[in-house]
Formats: sequence, structure tokens, C-alpha cells
Amino acid sequence: MNKKIIQLTEKHVAGTYGRYPIALVKGNGSKVWDKSGKQYLDFVSGLAVDNLGHCHPSVVSAIKKQAEKLIHVSNLYHIEPQSQLAEKLTSLSFADKVFFCNSGTEANEAAIKLARKYFFDQGQPKRTEIITMHNSFHGRTLGSLSATAQKKFHIGFKPLLPGFKYIPFNDLAAARKAISKKTCAILVEPLQGEGGVNIPDASYLKGLKKICQEQGVLLIFDEVQTGFGRTGKLFAYELYKTKPDVMTLAKALGGGVAIGAMAATNRVMKSFVPGTHAATFGGNPLACAAALASLKVITGKNFLDKANKTGVYFLQRLKEIAKKNPVVKEARGKGLFLALELNKPGGNVVVECMKQGFLINCIQQNTLRFIPPLNISRKEIDSLLPVLSECLTKLNEKP
Ligand SMILES: *Cc1c(COP(=O)(O)O)cnc(C)c1O
Repeated sequence: MNKKIIQLTEKHVAGTYGRYPIALVKGNGSKVWDKSGKQYLDFVSGLAVDNLGHCHPSVVSAIKKQAEKLIHVSNLYHIEPQSQLAEKLTSLSFADKVFFCNSGTEANEAAIKLARKYFFDQGQPKRTEIITMHNSFHGRTLGSLSATAQKKFHIGFKPLLPGFKYIPFNDLAAARKAISKKTCAILVEPLQGEGGVNIPDASYLKGLKKICQEQGVLLIFDEVQTGFGRTGKLFAYELYKTKPDVMTLAKALGGGVAIGAMAATNRVMKSFVPGTHAATFGGNPLACAAALASLKVITGKNFLDKANKTGVYFLQRLKEIAKKNPVVKEARGKGLFLALELNKPGGNVVVECMKQGFLINCIQQNTLRFIPPLNISRKEIDSLLPVLSECLTKLNEKP
């Protein structure tokens, strides 16, 4: 029954994804079902999108209500849910103003443009260079792709956008050395996602901020993956008590609906005046209504506290697995942003877990990533552990 869908996809959808041979057709909480009716526990969450689990009733109801009222109008007019979402996001963060778009890559494009425009407006039009980190991921459109310092994503797409300088993540000396009179911003994921769930030293982001302030350079955090409770706080910058000038958001923002945002302080955002940037669908009523409903749940009483405790519990269990399995190099993470780094490729573990009804994900060849819905139960986590443990034992025994 999955077969028909798989055939259509393979025949008619661009082949940009290497897909697993199942078609997911239904979801509820941490569970999803494929077309044949097989159930899976979801530790992928649509890649850190479904932070409330699938089809959360508050989000579903908000979408239904808004869809009956107004789905889309142009940003030539004021949009009620957009104004409310902007008010909410700014009251919950360092930012004063928000630009809305539809995805993470678009949010980063907006941040790149804003950083350049800010210095242009200051009479420093040559200050255009942005420093980014090895193993970063900022998106697939050409600006964000150029910001992404991973060679494998660049192959075949050159020339890239000029004006990016790549340095190692978690290396303050490298940042200090890389900054010049041409630098307009440092763009960094507070914790790297696609690059391997890489956690910085406790003082790294604070150190970056200090360097930026000394040099008059903007600090941009890409919180597309880490935002909305993924790492235990609403935004990961709170973990390190370091406020950026600009922050990009997407993934979990819309409770599953496509929406992106670039949030900034007034000082910086004032460079975005009419005509400088736009997105037709950006901040449309439907996506904003979904985002408002999702945010209300995430910021509700005890939600993040509980998610954080679940994360501590899960990491502890992963550390136990790491201790017992020599194939595991390290268990690491924050909140429900967790990983097991292996000393062998982990692709087979993903396939084996899937067969047994668990969706997990492997990045950088050898790092298993666990990013379940934030309201997953301990019981659900417990059900994965013996399966995972068995797969890792098998992997270890394989020559
Ligand atoms: C996923 C991701 C992006 C790109 O988001 P899209 O919505 O796929 O364009 C950008 N930055 C980070 C940190 C991400 O994890």
C-alpha cells in the first residue's frame, strides 16, 4: 500500500531526497502511521518541526478556525494574527521587531541582507563580510548555502555568493583573528544541528558576543533548529545568557505549518524600510494563527520544565547505552536535542529501528540524532531503548 505512493514519488517528484520506503499518512502525538497501517514512534519530528507532536489539538483547531475566516492577504495590509505573533515573539525574546517569511533558509537570507543594509546605512558599504562556522547549516538557497560551511553542499553550485569567511565552531581565537574592517556579522547556530548536534563550551557564545561588541560587528544566531524549546529553553541563547542582535527562526515556529521569521533589535531592524525586502506569503494569517496556538502551548505552565526533565532523563539513558556499547563514542545534547556519536556509520541502525517501529535519524554519517516531540513520554522513550541497544550491539559485532 505504501508502494503506490512510492512509485508516484519516484516517477514524478524531484529526486532531491534519498527517502526511506514508507509513506507516512497519519499522526497523533509522538506516533505516526504509514499507508499500510504500521505504527512508528517519531524521534525525528519532521526534523525538529513537530515540537508539540503531530496534529496537536490546539494547533488543529486554530488552523480550522483561521481557514474559515481568512487564509491569505497581502502584506500591503495589516494582518491581525501576524501583528499578534510579532508582539508575542518580541515579548518572549530580546528582539523588538520581526520580519516574517516561510522557511529557515529565507529567514537567513533576510538576516544576511539586513546585516549588509545596516552597515550600508551607517556609511560603511564595504562592510559586507559574514563569518560562519565549519559544519554549520543555514539552508539551501544561494545566500544561506554560501553561509553554510560544509563543502559537500556546495559541489556543483558554484559560484557561491561572495563575502563569507569560514572558521571552526567553538573557537574564539579563530573568531578574533577572522574579524576585519570588512566584517559585518558573525552568523552562528548556538548549538549546531545538521553539523552533528555540536554543543559549544559554556563561555563560547558570551565570548563571541564580546568580540562582536568590541569590533562593532553584528551577532546573528540561527535558531531555526534550536528554537521553541528544543534545547530546554524557549530559545537556545537563553541557555548561555547571551543575546544576539538578530535571530532567525522557522522549523517548530508554526506547529507544523511552514513559517519563518527573522527577529532583531530596533537598532538593526530600522534598516528594513519599505521596498528593501519582502515575502508574498510571509506572515500570512493561516501560518501565524498556527504559530500563535503552538507558542501558547510551548509557553504554557510547566511545558518546558517537563520537556527539560524528559531531556535529562533521555540523555541519562543514552549515556548508559554509550557506556555499554563500544561502538558509541559519545552521548550528548541539551533538552530534547540529543545525539549518539558512533565510531561507525549509523545508517543501518536507522533502517533497523524503522523496521521495528521507531523513526530516528543519522547525520554526518555516524551521528544518530534524537529530536522527538517535546511532550513525548518517558514510557515512549523507554520503548526505544532496548531496540536501539540491540541495534548498536549488532553494529559493534559487524566486521
Ligand atoms: C533546517 C535549518 C535551516 C533551513 O531551514 P529550511 O526551512 O529547510 O530552509 C537553517 N538553519 C538551521 C540551523 C536549520 O536547522
